[in-house]
Amino acid sequence: MPSRLANLWDAAKARTLSEPERLLYRSNLLGSDLRITNFGGGNTSAKVMQRDPLSGVEVEVLWVKGSGGDLGSMKLDGFATLYLSKLEQLKQLYRGPEHEDEMVGYLPHCTFNLNPRAASIDTPLHAYVPYKHVDHMHPDAVIAIAAASRSRELTGELFGGKIGWLPWQRPGFDLGLKIGAFAREHPEAQGVILAGHGLFTWGDTAEACYARTLQVTQAAADHLASRESVVAFGGKKTEAFPRGTRKAVAQAIMPVLRGKIMEKEPKVGHFDDSAEVLQFACSRDLEPLAALGTSCPDHFLRTKIRPLVLDLDREGDVKKLVASLDGKLEAYRNDYARYYQRCKRSDSPAMRDPNPVIYLVPGVGMLSFAQDKATARIAGEFYINAINVMRGASSVDRYVSLPEQEAFDIEYWLLEEAKLQRMPKPRSLAGRIAFITGGAGGIGRATALRLLAEGACVTLADVDAASLEQAVSDLARKHGKDVVHGVVMNVVDEDAVVAAFGDAVRHFGGLDIVVSNAGIASAAAVEETTLELWRKNMDVLATGYFLVARTGYRVLKEQGRGGSIVFVGSKNALAASAGASAYCTAKAAEIHLARCLALEGAPLGIRVNVVNPDAVIRGSRIWSSGSWKEERAAANKIGTDDVEEFYRKRSLLQRSVFPEDVAEAIYFFASEASGKSTGNILNVDAGNAVAFTR
Ligand SMILES: [Zn+2]
Repeated sequence: MPSRLANLWDAAKARTLSEPERLLYRSNLLGSDLRITNFGGGNTSAKVMQRDPLSGVEVEVLWVKGSGGDLGSMKLDGFATLYLSKLEQLKQLYRGPEHEDEMVGYLPHCTFNLNPRAASIDTPLHAYVPYKHVDHMHPDAVIAIAAASRSRELTGELFGGKIGWLPWQRPGFDLGLKIGAFAREHPEAQGVILAGHGLFTWGDTAEACYARTLQVTQAAADHLASRESVVAFGGKKTEAFPRGTRKAVAQAIMPVLRGKIMEKEPKVGHFDDSAEVLQFACSRDLEPLAALGTSCPDHFLRTKIRPLVLDLDREGDVKKLVASLDGKLEAYRNDYARYYQRCKRSDSPAMRDPNPVIYLVPGVGMLSFAQDKATARIAGEFYINAINVMRGASSVDRYVSLPEQEAFDIEYWLLEEAKLQRMPKPRSLAGRIAFITGGAGGIGRATALRLLAEGACVTLADVDAASLEQAVSDLARKHGKDVVHGVVMNVVDEDAVVAAFGDAVRHFGGLDIVVSNAGIASAAAVEETTLELWRKNMDVLATGYFLVARTGYRVLKEQGRGGSIVFVGSKNALAASAGASAYCTAKAAEIHLARCLALEGAPLGIRVNVVNPDAVIRGSRIWSSGSWKEERAAANKIGTDDVEEFYRKRSLLQRSVFPEDVAEAIYFFASEASGKSTGNILNVDAGNAVAFTR
């Protein structure tokens, strides 16, 4: 723990708040510090006197963080509210530990004031503690104590009788009764450590409870720090590779690995080579500790119990590593299936995806894969929590993981399964990864929005750094930072294109969709077309599309799961237009390139199709910068203000074409909706007879 936990309680501010608002204030403070609790982990509560809406009588209401969300960012509506008297009555209905899951069904009957927020499984852990305020946190430092083999003795040595200790037990009604009984029988206690799980603290005021959580966490951290002379993880076994090599190895492995683990559903990856990951991934104890599995249930629900350790020799031979992947994955999956068979109960849900979530590469770092980017990133963060716990526990004692059956019962808990079943159906591009050139322009942005709305992760590539930054931040505001990535790239620069794809692949773990869209336009009569202008058109439109398609194609081939390449062509790729021979010819080259690629890609499941827009004026950089608009206006003998109307009237359908219209066609080719189409052209031009395909 680098710095001490500061008490951030602002008493003046807290005085102005109502009791529920003070609970929220405390929750946000606690949840904003990852040393105190992991993302989405832990919960807080307060018992508040409130007027019953029916009887008008003052009753005691339990405000407790409900299901879902994160303490650090939650709002008041994140709390469930329940009549404490009704929660007390549940004790009469309780039939014993083998029936404790049925108690969850009674919780909604205790709801106060029609609050729609669902009460979480941890609700009884707060309800029966006879104090007004209760915090339940997952601090790495405390879990390190809780996951040590001498956890009980260590708790006694560190805290005397002030913090008690309870053996591991799955959270639920029964554990709630035990914590309540402990608090009543030990009036001197200010909290309790739950073995293999985390910390409970309580107090009479919000401020006292908050301060206590901080004190206990700090004391645990101080104790671990005093043991820093103990060499972590048995010392270093191998040196970390330089950063450049680590990145290169990650981007070489990720698409291949992804291709092998997306049998059931597409996945998104995340790469982490932070110092704490490298310390573990380069250590002597990597293999034995990784095999033990993570302890805190919050951790392994996200990470699976065990990571997969990959072999990378000192030469950093990626080919050898890749060649070993099939065997490694097969062994992991078999191991997981055996674990399922050993532990399953008569009513257990069917076995889930047996592939690993976390991959550790000695000298390189950690890869994580999940159904979306945020889940993959958070799984990685949770494994770092687990690393911290293992380091702490091993420094004071011997680290112990949960018994296998306990872990299984949590992983395949029927209540967890019910939660999974309630999840909305994944969107059509969930887990898919797209790369869009000209990403900051009108069609590029509209396409990104369309694909993001369907659940894809998107890398925007653009030559204009300022516009790119703006586009990425606009899209991230709407869809979240996790799913949008930007990379500056000039499509005519071979090295830049290769580097940009490498960057994107490392960022999201692979590739499914390439949209080649970056373009220019120019007009000149043939006798006035300079060689320079000709070459510029050929460079950006023909060669640029070639470089982007070839680089993307290589990644798709390595990944081995097919993919979709979409070219944004032009009406002029099919229809000749006077005074624009360089542009028209280069655009025609794109179409033929797409057909050739469709032919070569078909055996690999790589589809290549073309969308031909015409006169997409609104939002277009081609039409708004440079002289293209003036040139087109002059060629058609109209004013520049009349251009949009001119093109609308020229179309058969008499309609203007917008970037969103083109994006819709690109989405069609990018998605499985067009799974049986390749080598095709779709015009989005409001109808233009000269461009009818034949
Ligand atoms: Zn917990």
